[in-house]
Amino acid sequence: MITGIKGFNDILPGEVERWQHIEATARRVFGLYGFAEIRIPILEKTDLFRRSIGDTTDIVEKEMYSFVDKGENAVTMRPEGTASVMRAYIEHKLYAQDPVAKLYYMGPMFRYERPQKGRYRQFHQIGAEVTGVTDPKVDAQVLTMLCHFFAELGLSEPTLQINSLGCPECRPVYRETLKTFLRERLDQLCDDCKRRYETNPLRALDCKSAHCKEATAGAPAMLDHLCAGCDDHFAATRRHLERAGTIYAINNRMVRGLDYYTRTTFELVTGLLGAQSAVAAGGRYDGLIADLGGPAISGIGFAMGVERVALLLGGQEFARRPDLFIAALGGESQDEAFRLMCGLQRLGVSVEMDYEGKSLKSQMRRSDKFNARFTLIIGGDELVNGKAVLKAMDTGTQGDVVLDPAVIAEQIR
Ligand SMILES: [Zn+2]
Ligand SMILES: [Zn+2]
Repeated sequence: MITGIKGFNDILPGEVERWQHIEATARRVFGLYGFAEIRIPILEKTDLFRRSIGDTTDIVEKEMYSFVDKGENAVTMRPEGTASVMRAYIEHKLYAQDPVAKLYYMGPMFRYERPQKGRYRQFHQIGAEVTGVTDPKVDAQVLTMLCHFFAELGLSEPTLQINSLGCPECRPVYRETLKTFLRERLDQLCDDCKRRYETNPLRALDCKSAHCKEATAGAPAMLDHLCAGCDDHFAATRRHLERAGTIYAINNRMVRGLDYYTRTTFELVTGLLGAQSAVAAGGRYDGLIADLGGPAISGIGFAMGVERVALLLGGQEFARRPDLFIAALGGESQDEAFRLMCGLQRLGVSVEMDYEGKSLKSQMRRSDKFNARFTLIIGGDELVNGKAVLKAMDTGTQGDVVLDPAVIAEQIR
């Protein structure tokens, strides 16, 4: 037997309905906010991610699914969606028609991590990006849309946390301030944070290690070191969130594993999946499009983990019940059942029958398994009379119905 690869999962019927519900909800809600779908390829040049995500990030250092193809090209299976969306935005000059683009995507992402519970090498994200607007109204709009999406799924958890990471003017200054603070506590930090001290010292602020938490307890916060422009932007974002009725909390220790983020950053955090963790995260990336060789156009976006959202939805049943199950006794009745089934399906009624025509008992077992809303039983008498009993399974009510797809369809609606 050939099995699948560890860290690459099948999503089977029974589970896939939850995914479809999440995807359909995203399409519907994002559509209300004027977002259009973009489909990006799975494989990109490795340079795209080195340039965008940053050479010193964990993703690029350790976790990329990269290989050299037969043409000696260094390629990578996308670890996230934003870089590809921006690459497409620049490559197809979408900004020439209108710098403001609202795009969403969904699909598999890949990271070469050690497979463990809840971490897969192929995982799935739904994300959205807005380009071309620096006004903080758009920050509030994107966050409001994300919260709206979770509310539509019936999830009051997760909750929104926001922060600002400053800009190329104020962040380097803050970074030095933080490094000075960390320098005296370097030996208390975990190995990862020690290693990242020079390249990415901010990561110490959100490190899960208890030692790092303790050592950074009194660390200076980015929010207290924003330049006037970033300070105004953050204050206005908060005001617009309040206008939109979107509830949030400030988390001044939130940082990003990706280099391209500026100003507003945010996470949707839940305690329902074990330790406090993010199901969606994102932020503003005002320098990314220019870094990738495009014009100086700003952007903001987020991505959520579909596996995690599916877990939050828990045991909710999304599988669709068939409208009708037809049981039939004998060959001729079977043929009639098949004719009715095909006619009904064409009329938009979902129908199941037992193709193999086993005993009535086994057909009724199959009917129970499908849990159809109605059943129809056809035998010799019914064939002669051209009528059969249609039973509503939830109420138990029943009545004769003519063996005609249009008539049956009418009764079922
Ligand atoms: Zn700034
Ligand atoms: Zn640490």
